[in-house]
Amino acid sequence: MSTPEPSPGFTPRTVRCPACGQPARYAPDNPWRPFCSARCKQVDLGAWASEAYRVPDPTPPAPDPEAPPH
Ligand SMILES: [Zn+2]
Repeated sequence: MSTPEPSPGFTPRTVRCPACGQPARYAPDNPWRPFCSARCKQVDLGAWASEAYRVPDPTPPAPDPEAPPH
């Protein structure tokens, strides 16, 4: 029974960790919120760095350079 007093107006709650889907404590005492741990936060950041910023390159079919101008 040593639950710290939450900040006034802030209700700690449990959310799903965006990285692993496990319950994560969304409260001032969880510096990684809404993640459940530092590792999950790192994983998410890593995903952003390695995948999210990878711009897809849907090269459109180049028009026929031999085609006469319209
Ligand atoms: Zn997690």
